[in-house]
Amino acid sequence: MRSSPALIEIHGLSKHFGPFAAVDGIDLTVPGGEVLGFLGPNGAGKTTTMRMITGFLAPSAGSITIAGFDVAAAPLQARQVLGYLPEGAPLYPDMTVAGFLGFIAEVRRIDGQRRRERLDAVIDQVGLGDVLRQPIGTLSKGYKRRVGLAQAIVHEPRVLILDEPTDGLDPNQKHEVRKLIRAMARDRAIVISTHILEEVEAVCSRAVIIDRGRIIADGTPDELKARSGYHNAVVLTVPRAQAGAATEDLKDLPGVERVTRDELADGYDRYTVIPTESVSIAGAVSGLVRERGWSVRELYVLPGRLDDVFRKLTGHRQSGEAA
Ligand code: ATP
Repeated sequence: MRSSPALIEIHGLSKHFGPFAAVDGIDLTVPGGEVLGFLGPNGAGKTTTMRMITGFLAPSAGSITIAGFDVAAAPLQARQVLGYLPEGAPLYPDMTVAGFLGFIAEVRRIDGQRRRERLDAVIDQVGLGDVLRQPIGTLSKGYKRRVGLAQAIVHEPRVLILDEPTDGLDPNQKHEVRKLIRAMARDRAIVISTHILEEVEAVCSRAVIIDRGRIIADGTPDELKARSGYHNAVVLTVPRAQAGAATEDLKDLPGVERVTRDELADGYDRYTVIPTESVSIAGAVSGLVRERGWSVRELYVLPGRLDDVFRKLTGHRQSGEAA
């Protein structure tokens, strides 16, 4: 079946380890052009799902197709169109970076002129020029991660599965890798797992939250943020001397559920005004400001916070605790 525009299609995917369901009936379709973020607490089933998509682990049930190739029935074709950055560091610590990437090109059957072009391109894209002759085992964690990324993209796969791609990178490197992911997304389907919620906002066009092996939320980062208790909350910073009792005034406005106040060091107070069920309260708050004549330093509406949504949906147990 090669007609579907979706590059990844997953139906009813499950993985049992003994009686334990690490992945429990996942359905997912990822078209080209999408960077999908996999979020979830430790042990949620993200890596297990990625390992099944990449053919490293056989599912207990369900099916996966990559660019129309069934991973179980046509594993070689599926692997040809797929790049995978696994968790942790690449193998072969004794190989130099150049030797390792050359070896990967060979395994991927890239030769002749194209081999030179592709190796030059990935070395440039992930910034490995300075360490080409160094054994992988002697590289810093960030550089090892870059080598992992280089081997995942050397054959220009249409589908990329990246397990915590920026883990161990410094802020500049994180920025570069995120830029690269966004650039590569144009005609590819990319799935990244991450614990960094700011990364989801920076690179993902869509995010799913996985918990106990199931998808419990699926949407654009903005759609997910709209499920936050802070969606449409208003932040207001005013001089303490002017607005000493603002908490009560703000609480009495229609649609306001609660108000928090942070005392800032410079004589200002910052109020966060949280609405009931995300109703819009910006008009009411600015009306009050005008009525009272407060000189406002800040007044803005929050889109919501991903960390809040994440906690709300998955906070039934401590992070890291087995289900
Ligand atoms: P993290 O964020 O910590 O990387 P994750 O969402 O990637 O977590 P997985 O590594 O997919 O989670 O693990 C899901 C669950 O399956 C965990 O409870 C894990 O202990 C269990 N598990 C994974 N591999 C095996 C295995 N080979 N045998 C038994 N249990 C396993």
